[in-house]
Amino acid sequence: MTNRRNFLRNASLLAAGGLLAGKAESISAAVPQTSGASCAAGCGSSKVIGLQIYSLAQELHANVPVGLKRIKEMGYTTLELAGYNKDGNINKTPMADFKRMCDDNGLLITSTHVNPPTREYTSSNKAETMDFWKKAADDHAKIGVKYLIQPGQPATRSTEEMARVGEFFNGAGEIAKAAGLKFGYHNHAGEFAWVQPGGKEAQSDRRRFGKDAKGLEVIYDLMLKNTDPSLVFFELDVYWAVMGQADPVDYMRRYNDRIRVLHIKDRAVLGQSGMMNFEMIFNTAYYAIGAFDYFVELEGIRNMTQFEGVKGCADYLLKMPFVR
Ligand code: MG
Repeated sequence: MTNRRNFLRNASLLAAGGLLAGKAESISAAVPQTSGASCAAGCGSSKVIGLQIYSLAQELHANVPVGLKRIKEMGYTTLELAGYNKDGNINKTPMADFKRMCDDNGLLITSTHVNPPTREYTSSNKAETMDFWKKAADDHAKIGVKYLIQPGQPATRSTEEMARVGEFFNGAGEIAKAAGLKFGYHNHAGEFAWVQPGGKEAQSDRRRFGKDAKGLEVIYDLMLKNTDPSLVFFELDVYWAVMGQADPVDYMRRYNDRIRVLHIKDRAVLGQSGMMNFEMIFNTAYYAIGAFDYFVELEGIRNMTQFEGVKGCADYLLKMPFVR
């Protein structure tokens, strides 16, 4: 059995042997220039720490330039957007302006969360949904975003419905690819429920289907199975996987070629709940996936501002030696 010391040594040897070298280069190439931006906690750190801006919600949008400066000072280097709308704004800020403000503060926008207009996928709304993705992909390509990620679960009640979900995701993936982006999917807990052929509803406990039920499969596994690896990747939210009673480490090992991005999330501020083994998660990600982007996501805080919570998450990642 490989103990942790051997595991880390083997990972180091892989890196030293160049097996991970190409991937490591792509990570360092993604580090934005910091000239002109002030730094505090993050200065001197080579860690590439991403933030999903949903974590700050209205606190950021109250004053975007000041908020971005604070994010940079905490040590974050990359952002994943939320709040895109069909007018081409991020919340109320035009995308080009948002991008310029990020540039001014040495923050690189690498990803975005966008939901299509409907969660019910049918043959009659496919064209409209693909038109939506075309505009979203083009808008984000203009500001240099790499990943176009759907964060919301579509209707997934049966095995048959999952086939259509795969078809829509592949379609979005083709459109994103044509625009120079990669299309991905982000999970919550519901994707780890089970469905069956001809089913009417997903069940988080497979026993509810009865002991003689046939063809039960996990929604997330069907998403992986029904999508083309060249068109669709997965952003694994490790906290929501745990909440769905799934093991994020096991998924990263089994699907290391499909899971390319992580959401690093805890019940509230990272490392404080005791329910997330981030050391194992990061070690597995470096070892099994190699190069990956990740974004901190914060929810569930009490008695503190979102900015304070987001700073607590950055402090944790900057301090922890298992985060490279
Ligand atoms: Mg998330």
